[in-house]
Amino acid sequence: MLHKSFNKGLHRLIKKVEWPMYVINVDQSHKCKCLNHQANTGNVNCPYCLGSGYKIKIRKIMGVKQPYESKFKMSTELDNLVTTYYFDQKYAPIKKGDYIVMNDEIDVIRLTRNFRSDSGDTQFIEAPAVLKKYDNQIFLENFHRIVGE
Ligand SMILES: [Zn+2]
Repeated sequence: MLHKSFNKGLHRLIKKVEWPMYVINVDQSHKCKCLNHQANTGNVNCPYCLGSGYKIKIRKIMGVKQPYESKFKMSTELDNLVTTYYFDQKYAPIKKGDYIVMNDEIDVIRLTRNFRSDSGDTQFIEAPAVLKKYDNQIFLENFHRIVGE
């Protein structure tokens, strides 16, 4: 169990080293019209969903990006994790399948864990992620058009 003092220390650390980045929330309860139902994928050229196949919401948030440390290996599927992000709980929801874009690097969140204090309030989201491998150029072109940067 994590102690409150540890959470406080972590909170201070995160505030010191956090950096602006974008989270792209993928809302799997709202399909984009480009969704291919057989393959369960979107059209990579779709300007609305960035190829995710579902409705997206882009937010600029603050977070910490760290190399992934394999302390809690959960399955072989997670062996190629490269990055772990930390976010203040106030930026929730951040969940599996969401994208993080920072300096034109795109990561896909593979799972999330919450850090809780002894009193039970969740304070942080830990989010191991992998690099997005395919169709990144068209993704970034549409992304920049949406955010206007
Ligand atoms: Zn779409």
